[in-house]
Amino acid sequence: MKKCPICEKNTRIPVDDITLDTHGYIFVVKGERCTSCGEEYLGEEELNRVIPIARKLGVWGEPLKLHRKLTKSGRGTILHIPSDIEESMHIKGDEKILISKLGNNKLVIEIES
Ligand SMILES: [Zn+2]
Repeated sequence: MKKCPICEKNTRIPVDDITLDTHGYIFVVKGERCTSCGEEYLGEEELNRVIPIARKLGVWGEPLKLHRKLTKSGRGTILHIPSDIEESMHIKGDEKILISKLGNNKLVIEIES
């Protein structure tokens, strides 16, 4: 098993029930999930399979929603940024961010440059 970069445990297992939610369409794809922290890793092949379908439906683009669970730590609530978003946005992990509340169930996270 591969190591999970989030929790650094070797608990990544292959799964076939990762859900991608974009504009109300749900795509279920294969990938790997860390059984320890819940981080999901999409296979590149799967993304390459799903993206053209989503484009055809006209639903691909930003925002792509990935389901995540918040984690509770002693000092507050932690949100893990999905690794594919991290990579595509070149997030290093020490950026300053702005969090704004939009209504009752939406948060917008902006990365300050
Ligand atoms: Zn993990």
